Amino acid sequence: MDDCIFCQIVAGDIPSRTVYEDDDVLAFLDANPLAPGHTLVIPKDHHESLNDLPADLGSAVFAAMHELTPEVEAAVDAPASTVAFNNGEEAGQEVPHVHAHIVPRFADDGGRP
Ligand code: 5GP
Ligand code: ZN
Repeated sequence: MDDCIFCQIVAGDIPSRTVYEDDDVLAFLDANPLAPGHTLVIPKDHHESLNDLPADLGSAVFAAMHELTPEVEAAVDAPASTVAFNNGEEAGQEVPHVHAHIVPRFADDGGRP
């Protein structure tokens, strides 16, 4: 998808700070972080939402999330994190390329992101 921001990040046409990469998945720092270390995990292939993500790619994304979440927390010394998908526009999904947020959380940080 030529006009998709995250496809352009996968292609290297928009710079980003890579956190993790394999054949199917890319993770990079959010440009407008809700907390230090806020990371996005995406399938490299363009799929708009979880609803049209093939199950094998969903498994690859989850495996990366599972590996990365404790590493992201440790990197910013966070005791916890919110790991979430905004699935669809009405749920707050602004970039129509499926992505998981890993948002480090801290005591007394003001509630959910
Ligand atoms: P959504 O609201 O779609 O769940 O989240 C989209 C996220 O993508 C937001 O947290 C936003 O800050 C992030 N974002 C939007 N454009 C860019 C970009 O060009 N680079 C990076 N690294 N993050 C972006
Ligand atoms: Zn895309």
